[in-house]
Amino acid sequence: MITYRDVGVRYASRDRAALQGVSFEATRGRITAVVGPNGSGKSTLVRALLGSVHLETGRIEIDGTHIASLARREIASRVAAVTQREDVVFPLKVREYVQLGRYPRLGLWRSVSAADVAAVRRALDLTGADAFLDRALSQLSGGEWQRVRLARALAQGGDAIVLDEPTTFLDVGHEMHLFELLGRLASEGHAVLLVSHQLNLVARFAAHMVLLHHGRIEAAGTPDDVMQAGVLERVYEWPLVITRDPAVGAPTLVPLRARPRGDRTV
Ligand code: ADP
Ligand code: MG
Repeated sequence: MITYRDVGVRYASRDRAALQGVSFEATRGRITAVVGPNGSGKSTLVRALLGSVHLETGRIEIDGTHIASLARREIASRVAAVTQREDVVFPLKVREYVQLGRYPRLGLWRSVSAADVAAVRRALDLTGADAFLDRALSQLSGGEWQRVRLARALAQGGDAIVLDEPTTFLDVGHEMHLFELLGRLASEGHAVLLVSHQLNLVARFAAHMVLLHHGRIEAAGTPDDVMQAGVLERVYEWPLVITRDPAVGAPTLVPLRARPRGDRTV
C-alpha cells in the first residue's frame, strides 16, 4: 500500500507549489487513479514516490515505511514504475531491456535465478511484448515501446505498480488490453496507482479516483463522486456533460462543442 500524507513539493524555479497538502492511499486490490489537467502535478506525485523529488512537507509511505528511509534501489524493488517519459538511450534488444527490470531484485552475486527467468517470461507474455523479443529498442513503434516498458515494470514483480499515462501511443485495442491487465493485477492483490488522461476508462476500471488541480486535491472518491459535471467543467475549463456508458453504466464525460459567437446551440 502506498500512502501520501500531506505531501507538498515545490520546484526551485517556481513560485507556486507543484503539490500542496496531498493525502490519499493507493491500497492493494484496486486501481487508484490520479487525474487532472496538464500541469496539475500528476507526474510530480509519481516522482515524489520514486524518491526523485524532494518533499517540502509531508511524507510518503510504502507499507508503512517512510520512503525517506529507503534507498532508491529498495524503492525500485517494491514499486514497479512506468514513468511518463523515457527515451531509448540503451543499445539493447527488447529481451535484454525487460530483463533489466529484475535488476533491483538480483541477489548478492547478481546471478539470474529460475524465478527471474519466469518473471520475465510472464511479463513478456502479459504485455504481448514477446512478439518482438529480438528487436532493437530503437526499432520499436511508440506503442510497442510503451508495452516493452510495461513489461519491464511487471518483470520487477513488486506488490505495487505506478504508471504515468501508460496508454499514450496505444490504439484502442491495446489501451483496453492494458486497462484489463491493470484490473487483473489489482484483483490479484497489487496496489495499482495509475495516472491517466482517460477519464472515461478510469471511471470504468478504477475503484478510487483523485482529481488534482493546481497541485491540490479538488475531489476524491468513487468515480461517481468525482465525475461531476460542475467540478470537471471548472477544473478542465471546458463545457461538458456526464452521461452513462452503455456497456457498464459508469459515469462518462462528453465534452461539448465550443459555442460560436451569438449561437447558443452546442
Ligand atoms: P502533470 O503531470 O499533471 O502534467 P507535472 O507534475 O509534470 O504535471 O507538473 C506540475 C507543475 O510543476 C507544472 O506547473 C510544471 O510546469 C511544473 N514542473 C514540473 N517539473 C518541473 C521541473 N523539473 N522544474 C520546474 N517546474 C516543474
Ligand atoms: Mg505528467
